[in-house]
Amino acid sequence: MARPLPGPDDTRAGCAAARGVDGRPLHAAALKFFWGPMDCGKSTMALQMNYNHARQGRRGLVTTRIDRSLGPQVTTRIGLAHSAIEVTDGLDLRDLVRDAWAEGLRVDYLICDEASFYDLEHIEQMAELVDNYDVDVYAFGLATDFRSCLFPAARRLFELADSVARIQVEVLCWCGREGLLNARVVGGRVAREGEQVVIGDTANSAQVRYRVLCRRHYRAGDLGGR
Ligand SMILES: [Zn+2]
Repeated sequence: MARPLPGPDDTRAGCAAARGVDGRPLHAAALKFFWGPMDCGKSTMALQMNYNHARQGRRGLVTTRIDRSLGPQVTTRIGLAHSAIEVTDGLDLRDLVRDAWAEGLRVDYLICDEASFYDLEHIEQMAELVDNYDVDVYAFGLATDFRSCLFPAARRLFELADSVARIQVEVLCWCGREGLLNARVVGGRVAREGEQVVIGDTANSAQVRYRVLCRRHYRAGDLGGR
């Protein structure tokens, strides 16, 4: 079904949206947070969502931080890749959108991958983009770190987002139960202390690697027989 195309050049008549007492549309942009453990396909879903919206004529920007490729792109374990804007400490997401608009580019939405690694200010900027600029923001990321504690940015997204959804693709622990928690493995053991963000991968060869475990085996620090 074709969607209406919001944006600065939108001059459609005769389909005025219902408005609240403050004059703003009642059903406008939204901040949505999709979360799940590592390997559950968050980046794949992010790129699929970008594709779906672009196919309907909407235009968006894709941002990321600390993608596994360590480059300005979103990459996925199943081989998809898309160029992306790296969210640095000083980047203001509002400026990103305003600058694009100033260049005559439409921005209807943002796809923010690896959003748990963003700064808290970035999450506030997402909310402002939704509320004041009518830009949809779709954020994807981990909820918890290797200690099973919420990332600050994820916590803020849980607090502020219009909707929060756990990604339904199951990642299995070695025991066959559904994996929930991201264990950091250092020297063959489940680490309990350390920096909140340490680059690693889920590949066996990595020095610091991550394994998704069920809660039982995460708590026991049990990585299975292998
Ligand atoms: Zn298990």
